Formats: sequence, structure tokens, C-alpha cells
Amino acid sequence: MNPLKIKGMELGPIATNAFLLWRDGMTQAVLVDAPPNCAEEVNNVLAEENLTLSEIWLTHGHWDHMAGADELNGEDIRIIGHINDRIMFEQPSIMANFAIPGINMDPIKVTHWVKEGEVLDFFGSPVEVRHCPGHCPGNVVFWFKNDSCCFVGDVIFRESVGRYDLPGGDFEKLEVSIQEKIFSLPPETKLLVGHGPPTTVSHEMQSNPFVRPKTL
Ligand SMILES: [Zn+2]
Repeated sequence: MNPLKIKGMELGPIATNAFLLWRDGMTQAVLVDAPPNCAEEVNNVLAEENLTLSEIWLTHGHWDHMAGADELNGEDIRIIGHINDRIMFEQPSIMANFAIPGINMDPIKVTHWVKEGEVLDFFGSPVEVRHCPGHCPGNVVFWFKNDSCCFVGDVIFRESVGRYDLPGGDFEKLEVSIQEKIFSLPPETKLLVGHGPPTTVSHEMQSNPFVRPKTL
């Protein structure tokens, strides 16, 4: 298996991380999260690397992670999300009070609703979907088991956690998601987060001040 290539991009008005993923030698790529106005930068990387975009995997329905998906929405691009965030994907104006004025808030047509435990195919390697509600109802993470990394959206950050005070947020659910779905990943797993620098499962199990591993 060729190495996983990850091009991280900090995009949009509140510095949201998006990641373009492909394998060395391949011609197709997957984008994890699509911040507003991401098309120019994403298309530049695609052109530089001779790639075409085949799928967009959205960690959740907040505008800063998905409002740019329609700019990239070619007919053949599959868009993945979780159905619990359906209202935010399809009626993004309901989150307008929490967005920056003037942001493009066109609806996003998710073409495949993922489920807890579903295994996605990343050009021949398996990617496990874990549903991690708490920051919002439909946050999912994408675990690339063979590549020892996981894309987590706004579930957890380096020594922090996602906001739980927005509509649909719930700290108790977030805590359970982190304890059961993140801290159960292999400790060396790299966590690629929605805002800020990456971290690892072991670092957060030792140092995250908001959520501690469950004691037996
Ligand atoms: Zn969010």
C-alpha cells in the first residue's frame, strides 16, 4: 500500500482545517471537510498533484466545515455526512446567527449518509466511521486504521474539546464520545482535528483537561 498523502489546509474565516487525501501514485483524492471559499486552494492542490476529487467526507454540518462543498460539487463527487446533522446540511440558514455575515450558505446535498461502524473504502483501504455526538448531533470521525490516523472534526482538539454550547451540543454526550470512541483508538493514533494543530490519542489521554479516560 502506498503511503497516505495528507495535504492540510487552514481555510475559511475561522481557520478550519481541511485535508486533501490521496495515495502516492494515484489520481483520485478525497477531501475531509470543505470550509467556505475553499475551492480555489483545493483546486490548486489538485492541479499541482494531478488529482481529481472523487469524494468529500464531511465530519459534521457546521457551516465552517461544509459551506464550501457546493463550490466543488461536480456531478460525480460523492458527499458523505451523518443524518443527525441533516437539517444543517440542507437548511444551513438555521445556523446563520452563528456564522460570519456574508458567508455563502447554500444547501449541501449529502449523497451518502454514513452510520456508526460503517467501513468506507479509501481506494482499497478500510476507513472506519465512528459517530461522536456532543459537539453537534452528527459529528463523525474517520479512522484510517492502516495509516494510524483519524480525522475527528470538532470532537476533540489538542488539549481541548469542541464547543458544546451551540444548538445540539451536549457535554455529557461529548465526554462519552471521547471516552468510548476516541480514547479506545490505538494510543499512537494521530488525531487530525478541525481547528489547530494535530495531536495523538495518548497525548490527550494524559493531558486533555476537559475529558479524562474512564477509570475502571
Ligand atoms: Zn463544529
